[in-house]
Amino acid sequence: MSSIEQEVAGYYDKLLQRNAGEPEFHQAVAEVLDSLKIVLGKDPHYADYGLIERLCEPERQIIFRVPWMDDNNQIRVNRGFRVQFNSALGPYKGGLRFHPSVNLGIIKFLGFEQIFKNSLTGLPIGGGKGGSDFDPKGRSEGEIMRFCQSFMTELWRHIGEYRDVPAGDIGVGGREIGFLFGQYRRLANQHESGVLTGKGLTWGGSLVRTEATGYGCVYFTEEMMKAKGESLDGANVIVSGSGNVAIYAIQKAQELGATVVGFSDSSGWVNTPNGVDVELLHDIKEVRRARVSDYAKEAEGATYHEDGSIWDLKADVALPCATQNELHGEHAKTLVSNGVKYVAEGANMPSTAEAIEVFRENKVSFGPGKAANAGGVATSALEMQQNASRDSWTFDYTDGRLHQIMSGIFNVTASTAEEYDRAGDYVVGANIAGFKKVADAMLAQGVV
Ligand code: NDP
Repeated sequence: MSSIEQEVAGYYDKLLQRNAGEPEFHQAVAEVLDSLKIVLGKDPHYADYGLIERLCEPERQIIFRVPWMDDNNQIRVNRGFRVQFNSALGPYKGGLRFHPSVNLGIIKFLGFEQIFKNSLTGLPIGGGKGGSDFDPKGRSEGEIMRFCQSFMTELWRHIGEYRDVPAGDIGVGGREIGFLFGQYRRLANQHESGVLTGKGLTWGGSLVRTEATGYGCVYFTEEMMKAKGESLDGANVIVSGSGNVAIYAIQKAQELGATVVGFSDSSGWVNTPNGVDVELLHDIKEVRRARVSDYAKEAEGATYHEDGSIWDLKADVALPCATQNELHGEHAKTLVSNGVKYVAEGANMPSTAEAIEVFRENKVSFGPGKAANAGGVATSALEMQQNASRDSWTFDYTDGRLHQIMSGIFNVTASTAEEYDRAGDYVVGANIAGFKKVADAMLAQGVV
């Protein structure tokens, strides 16, 4: 082991001891540290002033009780989290996730990833994440509203347009942002539009924010394909999930001439050899709040499956857009043997370390989440800009800015990978490019 490898292994061992029982956080840090070995070999000053240890330790972790009353007048108690990870580049920025699997380790992994993602956008935003183990599935609108109000009754004192600006994530869409914003406005006694993003269009929201993560992921995919002289036109694409990110990734991929041959939810997956009827999917998921199995009942040529995996489908491109660790090493091998040449992560950390290694070995162009799904947070930052200037931009202008930002992220990712002799390795490129900007800011700002 070289001395740099030993030094990095030392950071990681200490992190494992101090953050026991948080495997997703360990996984996210391990991937970044692996890339940082390359940086430290060239620029050892990045280890000065305890920089790496400080980067891996959140600036602040807030955990709180969220009591609420269900429709049967029973008191329920959930746990709320907000991890304010790093504000060297700007106010903390990152979504809120409501899902029964949420715990501190999940929020820390998401907050850690968010630091580098936000840095890559080139916009002045730090990294944070939050959420709760509340399960919105099957809950009435009244229950969801009461939960959101109770959650915000604690969170509001920790956020603000210059401090911390939450947004949506799994289980938190436009409806929940509305309930959260309403309670914030009531408690703070001010209409501070910049305090949350993903708002409704008549009260400070931005056009394109709803579509941004899915569209951005497809724009990033296009760039990876362009680099190899190919395009989405005529390609077959698999998109996992059927939530906010997946729906708009499907829409944009098809708009650019691809056929989306499958999508999924946590119960099963749908094969759509003739492509997806996006209007029907939107109606089923966003309006009726039903399941993908209902789509298969209504769409001609579509079939629903609970056996096997969506990754068994044959395609040129795969866009995992559901959740963390949904694509394992064996899935990656199947995708490769079925001809997949491009993978871009719409979700956060959907591919396991083994899957990424399979893609690397087989020269699959792989866009990691912190680069490929940065379009959502980038457009949230554009929403903040519109709020600050009390302006609202057109759809085309905002989409143009998003497109430009995604091309910029691809370019800096690709050129950084080349600079460090790892051409085509977008994991290394994204980690190093995201890291250097934050690290330079932290070094300039002293030991804080
Ligand atoms: P949604 O809640 O809108 O949708 C999540 C989707 O993933 C649902 O279809 C859900 O199905 C499905 N899903 C969840 N768990 C599994 C599983 N184990 N297997 C298969 N499908 C599953 O969330 P988003 O679309 O907003 O977020 C999806 C991913 O994208 C997350 O990783 C999120 O962190 C990431 N992301 C989101 C951004 C955004 O702007 N919204 C920005 C950047 C990243 P079911 O209904 O059955 O639970």
